[in-house]
Amino acid sequence: MMRIAPGTRRLLGIVAGIVVVAVLPRLVPEYAVTLLDYIGLYTLVALGLVLLTGVAGQTSFGQAAFVGIGAYTSAVLTTQLGYSPWLTLPIVLLLAGVLAWIVGSITLRMSGHYLPLGTIAWGISLFYLFGTLPALGGFGGISDIPSLAIGPLELRDVGHFYYLIWTLVIAALWASANLLDSRIGRAVRALKARAVMVESFGVDPARLRIQVFMFAALLAGLSGWLYAHMQRFINPTPFSLNVGIEYLFMAVVGGSGSVLGAVLGAFGVTALKEVLQSLLQRFAGESGPYELIVFGIAIVLMLQYARNGLWPLAARALAPLLGSNRTAAITAGGGQPTAPGAAVDGGQRTTPATVANAEQRQAPVALADTGRPTVPAAALERRPKADPPPGEPLLAIDDVVKRFGGLVATNHVTFAIRPGEILGLIGPNGAGKSTMFNLISGHLAPTAGQIRFAGRPLAGLLPAQIARLGMARSFQHVKLIGQMSVIENVAIGASLRAHKGFVATCLGLDSAEEDALMAEAGRQVARVGLTGHEWDAAASLPLGKQRVVEIARALCADPTLLLLDEPAAGLRFQEKQELARLLRGLRDQGMTVLLVEHDMDFVMSLTDRLVVLRFGEKLAEGPPIEIQRNPAVLEAYLGGVE
Ligand code: ADP
Ligand code: MG
Repeated sequence: MMRIAPGTRRLLGIVAGIVVVAVLPRLVPEYAVTLLDYIGLYTLVALGLVLLTGVAGQTSFGQAAFVGIGAYTSAVLTTQLGYSPWLTLPIVLLLAGVLAWIVGSITLRMSGHYLPLGTIAWGISLFYLFGTLPALGGFGGISDIPSLAIGPLELRDVGHFYYLIWTLVIAALWASANLLDSRIGRAVRALKARAVMVESFGVDPARLRIQVFMFAALLAGLSGWLYAHMQRFINPTPFSLNVGIEYLFMAVVGGSGSVLGAVLGAFGVTALKEVLQSLLQRFAGESGPYELIVFGIAIVLMLQYARNGLWPLAARALAPLLGSNRTAAITAGGGQPTAPGAAVDGGQRTTPATVANAEQRQAPVALADTGRPTVPAAALERRPKADPPPGEPLLAIDDVVKRFGGLVATNHVTFAIRPGEILGLIGPNGAGKSTMFNLISGHLAPTAGQIRFAGRPLAGLLPAQIARLGMARSFQHVKLIGQMSVIENVAIGASLRAHKGFVATCLGLDSAEEDALMAEAGRQVARVGLTGHEWDAAASLPLGKQRVVEIARALCADPTLLLLDEPAAGLRFQEKQELARLLRGLRDQGMTVLLVEHDMDFVMSLTDRLVVLRFGEKLAEGPPIEIQRNPAVLEAYLGGVE
């Protein structure tokens, strides 16, 4: 099947979107156009939440408050200070962005559930602020808000607003799809299940979460601005926590598989609400927010039966109509597993969630099929190499201790890695190898002692900062994004080798850089011998091959020091030989490698030197040939058996 470049697919999607938006008002009665306007406004908000909650895994209950910020700011500025509505738009966006930055900085740098809690508090307090500040009209609200005019054309009725709203919706969908299918987007898609991994490739997860939160707030602010000038009257009700929950519901219904899920979610929930309200009113005899009860039940059912939202189901139903490739037109494909258990981790490929993922792989929107073809592209920039001072080792471990409570996992260990060697770190299970590894990469901090890389002490540096110095690692428990293609997983490794920012990426200005990134990822996939698997979903590979994908991803970072934690585990004999050949080739090109390994034959034939750990202590150090004959090592490691 021919692969259409994602940029082209998104253009096709825009054209299709414009056609639908242009034709739709002619097909429906007039009152339905009003409904479509509201659905467009909801879509903007839900789209932000699809990215923030669905893709990046951060729940916000406070989006309605950002909508309120947009509406009230423009209402006050136009009615009380005489601003023109268009002039208030940049002010609205700036204010929403700054406030999101403040709320996000406070809550998103802390781990756990601070964002959901923080946004609930934010939503409630803004609602009461809107209702009680006299300047905002109290609960009575603000009326006589001016309408919008485009040149001589005044947007007087809902029919006019329809075109403006849906043009902005299409633009927002396009920008979001651009974002998700980019270097930054791949990192965003990894945030939910793989934040530790992206961090080790130089990405700051907290900063990225704040950026996505700000993006979502801007969309909400825009929606509020449009709402105020369409409605020409506002009061606090549409900006309450209840409505914040409805927005969240729209995003959950749409799912994280596609930006189009936001449209579907806004449509579905609005329609459901209309139906429910009239039904409940008939049966309950009075009006009230009873639909919230039904929504609550629906959320529980969805979590049980349609975790990835309704979009995957809708896409499957639409596939015969649209043809498989075009269904993916503006599918940005952020749909990584929503359940922690569904992530590729060890051999957990039989959990129910992963079975669902496997089904989704066959669906036309399967993530792995949304990537970009590798085209000839400019070479990616090399990373500056950190050379140690002459005569110094590249990495020096100096009297390092690591305690976990009472357990001493690393006990006064000292060794060094010289530039250009392959050093093996071996020892029985629980000897402290992975702990040492994590101390070096900054994922753990030593209790005592010092680690220096190229002469520079690493104390106090975060994994992302250490990655910047030129280290790249693999993980003993494979940390790939299961539903993302192999080549996109590998491209995450090159996060530090490209520089286009968030805004440029949303505007699609990163395509040259993106081509270079994907070409480099393709080269690394070929280098580790996985040619032909580029577009396979990572989870579809056997575990041994997934480890090799991890190596390719680390190589994509263009590191000075490559840290590999049990890379040969799960490989067949033949594959191990190929891996050994690859690592020798890397060393011949000047790469330094630290290898944690279990397989004695593998390390014996491959490494230049070995360091043996036992119970957290260094037992021996030397060339493999000596270690092989060392009685203490034989006793400890092989249990005395030759
Ligand atoms: P290896 O990789 O050599 O098998 P590890 O470094 O994983 O060994 O573990 C060394 C010891 O430290 C083990 O006893 C393990 O249970 C303990 N350990 C490792 N990580 C932690 C942690 N985060 N908290 C508490 N104990 C840990
Ligand atoms: Mg280990």
